[in-house]
Amino acid sequence: MKNLLNRITVLVVSLILLASVASANAAQSQNALYQVSTINALLQGVYDGEVTIKDLKQHGSFGIGTLERLDGELIVLDGKFYQVKSTGEVIEVKNTVKTPFATVMDFHADITTNLPDTTNFAELESALDKVIPDKNYIYAIRIDGSFTGKTRSIPGKTKPYPTLSEAAKTQSVFNIENTPGTIVGFWCPNYVNGINVTGYHLHFVSADRKSGGHILNGGIASGKVKIARISDFRMVLPSGAAFKEAALNKDYSEELNGVEKSK
Ligand code: ZN
Repeated sequence: MKNLLNRITVLVVSLILLASVASANAAQSQNALYQVSTINALLQGVYDGEVTIKDLKQHGSFGIGTLERLDGELIVLDGKFYQVKSTGEVIEVKNTVKTPFATVMDFHADITTNLPDTTNFAELESALDKVIPDKNYIYAIRIDGSFTGKTRSIPGKTKPYPTLSEAAKTQSVFNIENTPGTIVGFWCPNYVNGINVTGYHLHFVSADRKSGGHILNGGIASGKVKIARISDFRMVLPSGAAFKEAALNKDYSEELNGVEKSK
């Protein structure tokens, strides 16, 4: 009998150990960001697709980016990969299409709360600033609500590719009013300058999947925000000549502000 009890004790201890190892693994695998290329490469016109949408789907069901030739804005939400074209049309991206720049992840919210109503990007930023607990991590942001503001999409380019600043001069701007939908994006600390967009980088897609784009300005009413802290970051870099030869070791933050942030 004593022998049996000992065996049971050993078995219980083993199960507890296994359970704690399993939960540690689960914690590590949460909110792991997968990024294709760097924002400086995009700024310098490295627009050839590197990773297919099919492959990107292996790394996440939530995120943002662009498509090969800088053809429109990519929004990844609940496992669906949407392209907001420069015509304003929103379509699901084919698996064979490639992306030159994207960040995706499986989204596990750490914080869920209601946001006060905002009418412009500065107000939205300051509302989100109050929710983000500290500024030493990258955060993924999902806001469901009613969006009013300006979004954009850039038409695809042909070679020789222009810089992003030049390309952005051809962007279409869409006025969206009181439209239910979802904001998808990220907040990055200053130390990722050159790798990704520092501060807020947000895209929008409407609930009816008929409008959206990269948010230039705007706010959200009846917003419910979810924040996920990212503690694991993998970046894959293009192998082509365009990336190898691009001048990437410069500070392009001013140029980036001109094309990515609110206007
Ligand atoms: Zn964008």
